[in-house]
Amino acid sequence: MQITHEIKVAIAAVRLASTATQAVQKSLVTEDTLEKKDRSPVTVADFASQAVICKALAEAFPNDPIVGEEDAKELREPGNVTLLNSVVTQVAKTQNAASQDEVLSWIDRGGATPDSKTKRYWTLDPIDGTKGFLRAEQYAIALALIEDGQVVLGILGCPNLPAINTDGNTGEQGVLMAALLGQGTIVLPLNAATYDGTPVHVSDIHDTAKARFCESVESGHSNQNDSAKVAQALGITADPVRMDSQAKYAAVARGEASIYLRLPTNADYREKIWDHAAGSIVVKEAAGTVTDAFGKPLDFTQGRTLKHNRGIIATNSNIHNDVVAAVGQVIG
Ligand code: AMP
Ligand code: MG
Repeated sequence: MQITHEIKVAIAAVRLASTATQAVQKSLVTEDTLEKKDRSPVTVADFASQAVICKALAEAFPNDPIVGEEDAKELREPGNVTLLNSVVTQVAKTQNAASQDEVLSWIDRGGATPDSKTKRYWTLDPIDGTKGFLRAEQYAIALALIEDGQVVLGILGCPNLPAINTDGNTGEQGVLMAALLGQGTIVLPLNAATYDGTPVHVSDIHDTAKARFCESVESGHSNQNDSAKVAQALGITADPVRMDSQAKYAAVARGEASIYLRLPTNADYREKIWDHAAGSIVVKEAAGTVTDAFGKPLDFTQGRTLKHNRGIIATNSNIHNDVVAAVGQVIG
């Protein structure tokens, strides 16, 4: 893969943000917060991650809009001073100390809304899979660059996903995947400074009965009753692999699973661009195929959501038509 300036900046930014999210998870996610269903650790990590990434992008590409999941409105409320201080403290751990105003202004840079005239923009999910983060399971930092409605670069930082070593066994925790249009997908260590990656490739199965599929842990995000029917129609006997976040796209890209199903639970819900931009290019450049649940290509020209799409099907390509047909039978 050609290591462009964009990909270098994006990889470094995701690594820096993951340092912050990992530190927050270590220090703030405790048995106590789990029991109380206290969401404050993920709020701190979310804002810190967005601040760090937007700062890096703003310095390198000052004219590029950033479409992030968060904005700093909540953080500016007088009642949230403790939260703001906590975010500033976490950001300071990743770089030189910053003032409250600086941190707020970096987060605000992520508030752009693209329209049909926006030629080039970044989209960021500073912590995708917030529920997974709070359970100390899978979450991802997802950053993508979109040009003329096409995702051209995608980075997934997956701090809790173990590496798969050359012997096929799981290795050290923390995986980064980087994809560049027409150049493939590579996997790199998350917690090291190298840009030397190893190409990843989807699985090579042709028989759907041999497929393993992954889906959300949260039944509110993907219809698990429908996916069980789809699995039955495809002859799949293995249990689904349930994991939070775009780590599911990473699992398909490296052949650990052959299908990612995200089936609509609610007729009005529209998928957010930052939940799929990075993941979809990571799978496509690993030779996979990504469409919506009806087999339509994802349309990233419709602002903050995938307005013209419903659900997601990502596969190793070989079995894509079979999976789309089975989903069509189940959801009509
Ligand atoms: P996952 O970790 O794959 O379950 O997905 C997490 C993402 O689901 C969050 O970032 C939300 O943006 C998104 N989400 C929230 N509500 C829904 C819904 N009803 N259907 C699909 N996705 C949703
Ligand atoms: Mg998300």
